[in-house]
Amino acid sequence: MSEKPMLGVIPLTFVNPARLPTYETAAPARDSFGRRIDYLRVSLTDRCNMRCVYCMPAVGMQFAPRPELLTNEELLLVLRAAAKAGFRKIRLTGGEPTLRQDLVELIRQIKAIPGIEHIAMTTNALRLRKLAGPLKEAGLDRVNISIDSLDPVKFRQMTRGGNLDEVWAGIEAANEVGLTPIKLNAVVVRGMNDDEVVQLAALTIERKWEFRFIEVMPLTGVAGLANEGVISSAELIERLEAAYGTLEPLGQADSDPARRYRIPGAKGKLGFISSVTDPFCATCNRMRLTADGRLHLCLLRDDELDLRAAIRNGATLDEVEQLVRHAVYIKPWGHGLPEGVLPTLRGMSQLGG
Ligand code: SAM
Ligand code: SF4
Repeated sequence: MSEKPMLGVIPLTFVNPARLPTYETAAPARDSFGRRIDYLRVSLTDRCNMRCVYCMPAVGMQFAPRPELLTNEELLLVLRAAAKAGFRKIRLTGGEPTLRQDLVELIRQIKAIPGIEHIAMTTNALRLRKLAGPLKEAGLDRVNISIDSLDPVKFRQMTRGGNLDEVWAGIEAANEVGLTPIKLNAVVVRGMNDDEVVQLAALTIERKWEFRFIEVMPLTGVAGLANEGVISSAELIERLEAAYGTLEPLGQADSDPARRYRIPGAKGKLGFISSVTDPFCATCNRMRLTADGRLHLCLLRDDELDLRAAIRNGATLDEVEQLVRHAVYIKPWGHGLPEGVLPTLRGMSQLGG
């Protein structure tokens, strides 16, 4: 590795590149707690064509200038290194990932990386009507789509401008081309869309969709909303059982944070993601790559390792793999919300959920 300082870890841990341990490359990467980390959530941009109230503040958002974002070539280098380190599943997110130029070609190239077995995308679906077919053809396996309300006026308010008809068109297009199984996500905010959970859950009665209710997390820019607005999954389940009778528990798929249930007789499933009231850190298998090239070690902590600096200083594929393995090794056990430790550096739109 070059003599130049190639590593920056923000903000808590400084690593001297000259003293980076050498990680064994024969086996997939594990963290210091023995967890196998094989799922990388990749933010393609911090920009978005919506401004959801639980994700971005109404004013004051600043977006990264283009030269700060990883180029496609840099991103593919990171993903090849991650695949060598044992990452198998990639999720494209943002900001809004469909705003990334050349998305279709990028997916085609990611699909060709040896070791990458599955590519999913989380999207607001505004651009999916046209893109679903080409994305599927390029190798995208499936999508998660955010839809917080079935009422066009409320949807527009919660997303600060989103068009619900376009989202539905995107969902139908994804369904038609086979970006399935489709998972729909709603962040439930008290006083905004919590009166709709029974109708949202009803979408799973006739369709084989999974509808996932997410607790609001206190990310930078929306922490106030999270304090007042969080509704626990337990409370939601109570409300749904009052409407539908006892939900059938389906357990948890491996390392999937959603606890899954079924409305009796329904074709689809419900999922509850309770990051705040019932964290799932013990089975965490994921890490995040920000659009500006930092490995973000835990969604709700600030620790990061700067891959972009290394790459722009000439790091080779093997060197980037070592950095990825190091980031995995130093991944924190879990978040610190119960002790009052809040993330301060980035908002959700910069991290990708
Ligand atoms: N723009 C895409 C979308 O909305 O689906 C992808 C990026 S978005 C940041 C990824 C996920 O994070 C979405 O499901 C969104 O609902 C969720 N999200 C955003 N802010 C959140 C918050 N404060 N707490 C919990 N989930 C949040
Ligand atoms: Fe955009 Fe997704 Fe954030 Fe909404 S949740 S503002 S769609 S990045």
